[in-house]
Amino acid sequence: MKKALVTGITGQDGAYLTALLLEKGYEVHGIKRRSSLFNTQRIDHMYEDPHDKKVHLKLHYGDLSDSTNIIRIIQEVQPDEIYNLGAMSHVRVSFDEPEYTAQVDGIGTLRILEAVRLLGLTEKTRIYQASTSELYGGVQGHAQSETTPFYPRSPYAVAKLYGYWITVNYREAYNMFACNGILFNHESPLRGETFVTRKITRAVARIGLGLQDKVYLGNLDSLRDWGHAKDYVEAMYLILQQDKPEDFVIATGVTTSVRDFVRMSFAEIGVELNFTGEGVSEVGTVVSSTNPDFPVEIGKAVVSVDPRYFRPTEVDLLLGDPTKAMTQLNWKPKYDLPALVKDMMTCDIDLFRRDQLLANSGHQVLNYFE
Ligand code: NDP
Ligand code: GDP
Repeated sequence: MKKALVTGITGQDGAYLTALLLEKGYEVHGIKRRSSLFNTQRIDHMYEDPHDKKVHLKLHYGDLSDSTNIIRIIQEVQPDEIYNLGAMSHVRVSFDEPEYTAQVDGIGTLRILEAVRLLGLTEKTRIYQASTSELYGGVQGHAQSETTPFYPRSPYAVAKLYGYWITVNYREAYNMFACNGILFNHESPLRGETFVTRKITRAVARIGLGLQDKVYLGNLDSLRDWGHAKDYVEAMYLILQQDKPEDFVIATGVTTSVRDFVRMSFAEIGVELNFTGEGVSEVGTVVSSTNPDFPVEIGKAVVSVDPRYFRPTEVDLLLGDPTKAMTQLNWKPKYDLPALVKDMMTCDIDLFRRDQLLANSGHQVLNYFE
């Protein structure tokens, strides 16, 4: 039985990857952080009673900022594959926590690579590094591929740039099977609630169910190449099954504005929007509402712009060229953007119907601000 160690197992990708690896018969070990509340909601449905002898999913307390802890876990697990998904993954927050982001996203990657080297596992253990399209940041005007030079535009991207290059360097210096997946934005019903897609689908579901009046967003013009996380974790797995360690761009090759993502999400509840005004005074107003399950008043302003969500340096456009992954890995995404939006909206409507039931029976429901 192959053993995989997943950092960031409690995150969006960690959850989908764990499901995939368990299905393929792996014993999966994950690193979870100690927190004052339970933080394993995304993987609880796969978790087995640790008191049973034959569990296939094992969790270890740990943190990417703690070298000795990383060395101990890798020594104990002796993994065949490590998927380094753990990170402070929010671009906007990285401007508030730049040093911590560098520690975890940059040096954290080094800690993994160095632990494998020090423990003499360079021939046994293959390493996947979660690199990102944010590396291209300031590169605009054409699709971004494995050969496009990088231009990071946030502390997050700069930290990930170190992670990218240290992975390449350990591969070249020590002959390690260490690879970067340069993944463009990927979303799902498990996406963190403060990333723009999930913020939108949650808000639209709540507006449709009468639980919220409007959503405040930042830059509606930015363009992203959005795929489904379920498809993207398959690419991670395939990257580590190749004969040679290489880096791959994983993307859909289609880019869409935040504004259009908002339109598509509202369309799922039968609401059509019209956007007027510019910059901070832009608003999205309801022009028609056709689904009686989600009655939203015509003429109501349901989207406003709040500059607090602007970034000090923005990445205007991301558009990936996944040709290498499609030809060499034979990877092909199953979800396009409309299917992704539908999946996210269906799940968020289901989630907030429970709140609606509570509200209708006189219980208090939470508001969500960030
Ligand atoms: P999430 O934010 O959903 O998950 C991040 C994971 O990292 C969580 O399990 C989190 O733990 C863990 N983590 C955070 N800080 C530490 C730390 N100090 N030590 C150990 N673990 C830590 O991200 P995604 O699942 O969306 O992304 C996975 C990886 O892929 C990340 O590295 C991200 O930067 C990268 N990436 C993501 C893209 C995307 O569009 N989703 C695009 C390209 C790259 P906790 O649950 O306790 O917070
Ligand atoms: P990113 O591409 O990794 O930064 O993923 P995000 O989902 O956080 O942001 C995608 C794009 O949406 C960025 O260009 C943001 O500036 C833009 N955006 C617009 N409004 C918001 C918002 O309210 N929250 C977030 N997170 N992003 C927003």
